[in-house]
This record gives sequence, C-alpha cells and structure tokens, in this order.
Amino acid sequence: MSMLKRARTMKLNARHWYFLIVSIIGITVFIFINQADFLNYSLNNWIWLYALVGATLILDHFTFRLPPQGNGQSMDSSVYLACVFIYGAPFALSVCLLTLIILSLYNRKTPFWKNLVNFSIYVLMITGSSIVFSASGGEIGPIQNENIISYVIALSVYFSINVLLIGFYYVILMKSTLFEALKEFFKDIIVVYLSTLILSLALSILISSNGVFGLALFIALSTMLSYSFKQLFTMYNEIQEKAIKDQRTGLFNHSYFENLLDTEIKKSKAAETSLSLAMIDIDDFKKYNDQFGHLKGDMLLAFLGNFLKTECDPAEVIASRFGGEEFTILMPGYDENEARHFINRLRKKLNDTYFEGVEIFPAGCLSFSAGIANYRDDIHDKAQMVDLADQALYYAKKQGKNNVHVYGSGSVQEYEIDFAEDVRDIEQQLKLFLYKDVDTFKHSKRVFRYAVDMSEVLGLECTERRTFVLGALIHDIGKLEIPWGILNKKDKLTPGEWETVKRHVSWGKRIAETNERLKELVPYIELHHERYDGGGYPHGFKGSQIPRLCRMLTIIDSFDAMTTERPYQKTKTYEEGIAELRRCAGSQFDPELVELFIGYMQQRMLEQQQPAAGFET
Ligand code: GH3
Ligand code: MG
Ligand code: MG
Repeated sequence: MSMLKRARTMKLNARHWYFLIVSIIGITVFIFINQADFLNYSLNNWIWLYALVGATLILDHFTFRLPPQGNGQSMDSSVYLACVFIYGAPFALSVCLLTLIILSLYNRKTPFWKNLVNFSIYVLMITGSSIVFSASGGEIGPIQNENIISYVIALSVYFSINVLLIGFYYVILMKSTLFEALKEFFKDIIVVYLSTLILSLALSILISSNGVFGLALFIALSTMLSYSFKQLFTMYNEIQEKAIKDQRTGLFNHSYFENLLDTEIKKSKAAETSLSLAMIDIDDFKKYNDQFGHLKGDMLLAFLGNFLKTECDPAEVIASRFGGEEFTILMPGYDENEARHFINRLRKKLNDTYFEGVEIFPAGCLSFSAGIANYRDDIHDKAQMVDLADQALYYAKKQGKNNVHVYGSGSVQEYEIDFAEDVRDIEQQLKLFLYKDVDTFKHSKRVFRYAVDMSEVLGLECTERRTFVLGALIHDIGKLEIPWGILNKKDKLTPGEWETVKRHVSWGKRIAETNERLKELVPYIELHHERYDGGGYPHGFKGSQIPRLCRMLTIIDSFDAMTTERPYQKTKTYEEGIAELRRCAGSQFDPELVELFIGYMQQRMLEQQQPAAGFET
C-alpha cells in the first residue's frame, strides 16, 4: 500500500472513530435524559410537540442566506433553546428527535450515519445548555427577567459544544491545531449565535404569552425575514456579477483579470508552479465591422465570448475580455507546451466554427492570433507578464495571423529584421539631442554598443536582447525635457537644478508611453537611476525589485559616464572606472553583474591593447 493511500485510510479511520464515539455518547445521553418522556405526554403536549417540530422544519427550510458565500443559516436552534427554557431538556430532545427523523426521511440521499452524528451533536448541545441553565439558577417555564444570566450562559454552552465538536472534527481531518480550526469558525459564527439567543428568547416570550398564535407569529416573521435575506443575497450576487463580468461577452472583465493575474503570480511564486498567460486578438476584426457594421461586430464578440466560456473549464483556465477584440486566458499550472497545445486546440476549433459572414475574413473562417507568456523568476508584476504575452502576440500577427506564438521561442532572424527598424526609429528621435546636447546623443550610442556586447555575455534570448538594447539606446530620452541651460551648464548644478535633472526618468517614461512600440522599454528609462541598496530614484527600489537588465544598464550607464569627458567631473581611465565599479558593488550596483561587466571589459581591453580612455563616436 502506498504511503499516500495508507495516510488516507488512517484519516478515514480516525474520522469514523470520532463519529462513532460522538454518536454513542449522543444516544446514551438521549436515553438517559429523555427516558422515553413522550410516553407520558398529554394531548396538549403532543400538539405542542408537533407544532414545534413543524416550526423547526419550516425554519430549517427557510434559511438565511448570507453574503458573500451564501451560506444558509438555519434558525432551528432558536426553537431548541426556547424548548430548553420553557419545557426543559427531555421535551427539547423529543422535538429534536422527531424533527431529525422527518428530515432524514425527507433527505433520503444523506447517509444514515450523517443524520445520526447530526442528531447526537444536537443532543449534546441541548443537554449541555440545559444542565448549565438549571445549575446557574435558571427556572424552567415562562421567560423571567431574573433568569437573563442563565439564558446567556445556556446559549454560550450550546454554542461552545457545537464549536468544540466541529473543531475537533477539523483537527482530526486536517491535522490542524484546535486553535487554528476554531479561529476560522468563530469569525463566521459569533453573530449568528447571538441572534439565535435573541430569537430563542423572543420565541419563548411569544409562546409563553400567546401559545400557538405566538409560535405562528414567530414563524411568519422568520419566513418573511428569510425571504428578504434571499432577495438581498440575489441582489448582492447580481451586483457582484456586474462588477466582475463584461456585459457584452459574459466573460470576466479587465479589472477582474488584473486582480486574478496578481493573485496567480503570487501563488506561482510561492509554490513554484507553472503559470501561463495567453493574449488573444481576433484577426481582421475591423474588416468584419466595416463590412457588416458595429452591431453585427458586437454579436460576433458575444459569440466569441460564449465560445471561450464553453471551451474553458473555469476550474482550470480563466478567460476574460481584455478590451476591444482582445481576450486573455490565464492558465495556472500550465507550462509553455501545455499552454501552446491548449490555445492551438482552441484556435483550430474556432476555425471550424461557423458564424454568419465569416467568408469575408482572409482565411475564410473565424481566427485569432495568440501570444503566450510563461511565468518566470524575473517577472515582478502583472504588467510585465501582460507585456510579454503582448509582445508574443505581436510576433504571432507578424507571422501571418491565425497563429500561436510563445514568448522567447522565435528564431533569431525573425527578431533581427524588426530590431533594425526599431533602432533606426529611436536614433531618429535621439537626433534631437544633436542640437540640444550632443554629449547625451553620443553617450546613448555608446551605452547602446555596450548593451549589444553585454547581451551576448549574458546570453540573452532574442526578445530580451531586443528590449535591453533598445532600452539602453533610449534610456536618456527624457533629458530632452531638461532646459538647455541646465543640460549644458559647465559649473556644478545647484540642488534645485539637480532635482530637475532627476526628473528626466519620469519625463522619459511619459514620452515612451505615448508610443505603443516603445512602451516595453519604459522600465529601462524609468529605473536606470535606481541603486542596488535602494538609495536611487525615482522609487528607491532595492535589489531584485529592480529588473535584472535594468541593474545591468545602470552599471553600463555609470561606467560610460565615468570614463568619458563630462563637465564638473574628472574623466577616469578604464582601470579607474573598473575600480570604482568594484568599490560601489553591493551599494550602487549589483555585485554579480559588476563582475560580469568587468570580465567583459578586461577581455575587451586585452583585445584593444588597453586604450587610455573610453571610446568616442
Ligand atoms: P488584426 O488582425 O491586426 O488584429 O486586425 P484587426 O482589424 O482585428 O485589429 P485592429 O486593432 O486594427 O482593429 C480592431 C477593431 O476592433 C477596431 C474596432 O473598431 C473594433 N472593436 C473594438 N472593440 C469593439 C467592440 O466592442 N465592438 C465592435 N463591434 N468592434 C470593436
Ligand atoms: Mg486589436
Ligand atoms: Mg484584431
């Protein structure tokens, strides 16, 4: 027998033993306390017994459904307690026995032993509360103000026995401590029990003063309340549904998706499990809109939403509408291959699914392109993961649509073509520096070259290499916003002027955010002045809070600044620059990356016969 199987059997046995013991005690106590009390009942007693059993059954049926989970809270305990207060334990036990017999006949699917355990727990609660009620001076009969302490004590014991019996069950089942089991339990139940006490007292008063009419009044009130609670719960559900669902497609909406992604990233990080995200974009949707109008386009979106809902089992993968004609599918536990396989299957199924007018699509059928990103250690937040999936989607489209592309799986050539275009675009923008600050222009190009070399040293794969190198080229773009006088000042800057200079990272971020293709470079622009020890700007991020390649860029950027001519600063030789990097390793710079960079520099110096100072463009 395997360990797991044996453990399961042991758990099962312990549970069964627990149930058996509780049942034996419960039945024994019942026999001892009730002593076939019902044999001596008068007609009036029997009428009351039936009336109270009826009341309990009604209350058991009309539960109070409470948000957020909609747990049904039955008020039957208030009848049992009222019986304890007015008639004493033996009668309360008779009501309990008859109620549970009828309930078990009604719910025949529930196994017999479960009903027995349930009955035994009620017996122990009723008996326990009755004993302390009498012991604390409580008098059985109509409700009396002097008895108030006894009522409260009786309820506390009723409540404690319930909590303990269920708490022990969880201890045995989950192997957690009693404290842990009770902690969760207490939170939910304390208010409910307090209302049970109030209700049981109200019921007792009604019964004592108005007999059956009082009981009927109580039931009418409870069922009406139950009805209102049900309405409230339905309303809560509807509002909740509206807040997290996209009305057009019936899928989850963008904000729900963002929260979910955040949670799943944290889970994956903690448990070291896989997580994949697919970003899906309908191919040539604009054509469909143009041909048939937006209304028909909306119907196609709704159709797609339904398609994804049917195909995605919510227990495994979660489909959301990201916006427009873009959807996301979050796949916890799926590695790259499983995700690719799943999304490809979905894509093929959609190709084979007919919707009116699909003939106008270039492929002659409905199709989408998808980009998949897999969770990795260096992904720090949801935005990064979405960004990677988006980049992969971009390549899926480039490969001719109706395609699935996994981030990082492309061939070198394919990225290369695109890359050259982007370099040209960014250089075009940097040319503005030629008139404003030629040093920044030259510096950017040198940093770019270092980054090209370092991406080889670091063995970056194509897409990472692309963003790193482009990020290095564009990192100072925000300096375009610094006034000419400050940018070209030969003397030392005043503290105020320094503050202006420091703002170039935020200005740069804003510039990049206006262009869809530059968005992915934002971290390099924004974070290249962060320090490894957290003393940098603009956020004061520390260590691994700063993405690894941004930490690398900081080293390159600083090394180039040290080793080239700058106003108000003595130029260092390469050796001095290296010594300075080492001196600041662990404080300003990531020590591991510093050594990698120094290794590369030393190699380069050897090859170039050690030039005296940094290179110039
Ligand atoms: P591609 O294959 O490159 O994705 O081409 P495309 O035409 O699908 O993509 P593009 O991004 O150029 O156009 C998307 C279109 O989706 C444009 C917009 O009118 C349409 N769209 C976005 N949201 C909605 C919507 O809620 N309803 C309708 N009917 N159309 C929408
Ligand atoms: Mg689109
Ligand atoms: Mg599209």
